[in-house]
Amino acid sequence: MVAIRQVPPSSRLREETLLIDVRETGERLAGHIEGTPHIPVGRLQDDLPALISDLDTELVFYCATGSRSKVAAAFATAMGYTDTASMDGGFERWRNEGLDWVSPGQLTDEQAMRYARHITLPGVGARGQERLLSARVAIVGAGGLGSPVALYIAAAGIGTVGIIDDDRVDSTNLQRQVIHSLDHVGQSKTDSARERISALNPDVKVELYPEKLDAANAFRILSGYDVMVDATDNFPTRYLLNDVSLNLRIPVVHASIYRFEGQVSVFDPYQGPCYRCLFPLPPPPEIAASCDAGGVLGVLPGVMGTIQATEALKVVLGLGETLVGRILLYDALAQRTSELRVARNPECPACSDEQNPPELIDYDPSCRPA
Ligand SMILES: [Zn+2]
Repeated sequence: MVAIRQVPPSSRLREETLLIDVRETGERLAGHIEGTPHIPVGRLQDDLPALISDLDTELVFYCATGSRSKVAAAFATAMGYTDTASMDGGFERWRNEGLDWVSPGQLTDEQAMRYARHITLPGVGARGQERLLSARVAIVGAGGLGSPVALYIAAAGIGTVGIIDDDRVDSTNLQRQVIHSLDHVGQSKTDSARERISALNPDVKVELYPEKLDAANAFRILSGYDVMVDATDNFPTRYLLNDVSLNLRIPVVHASIYRFEGQVSVFDPYQGPCYRCLFPLPPPPEIAASCDAGGVLGVLPGVMGTIQATEALKVVLGLGETLVGRILLYDALAQRTSELRVARNPECPACSDEQNPPELIDYDPSCRPA
């Protein structure tokens, strides 16, 4: 075997070479060097070429103590990589020399396994997962949009999920409301949703509000949440939620659907436009058909709700570019998306005066000022 070059731990390795963790997943989760990709020794043959195509890249492998990383370096050399080395003493020596590393923090071993794909994900990591676990997300509506939102944010490990819905499951819901199932027909949607969420992820605390959101209960229910998801199907609740958002300064992840089309956006109070900046008044009730009357392709709320879940997670993590100031339009029939840039309306009756947020009122179906 060719002699393997060994290099001592130093911060230079992280900055100037590609430092690769070749330990097993369980070891990785107990702590690792920040920003280092993870390929267990047994996966090098498959995963290394996918990660690095330039055979002249300077590669330094590390394991726990520095023996498996020698094997990894020899193996990479045999694969044709020209500049490989093993970090002497491994992660143990790295830590002992006081160099920076990322600890799994507050996560239990079980959580570290459950969220392993988040923990190894750049931009999320153990810190991000802890953030998700301490976040509170309220979902208004446990129907077509609320179903995928609830399932995905629960799977992602959002620590507290509030569900607000006064409806019961009926058999016409099952064509699109995938959180409910046939044996839940007749049950309250909140109970039905809790059952699925708890079966999926016991980490999630589910707070149920089997009531209709109105001006009298909105502050009691929604205070203390970090993000609100508008998964409603009617204009009065949507306008009320906008007013709540401006009062409590909680961002709203909005979506609405009609037949084969949907739209989704994020309303971050006073940072971007609010719902009323865009839609000062809803369409007249005779035009504003609800799902019941207009029909809807069953998978459409799945697509739009999944985008809402994505945005809610991004808001919690402070990650990427959210849909604040943009409306994403989706046309399922053409399989096409388009985007509208939208700005705050300085004359907006709801958000133009930050010091005087709108008083909560119960809107009639027209949502027009009395
Ligand atoms: Zn506004």
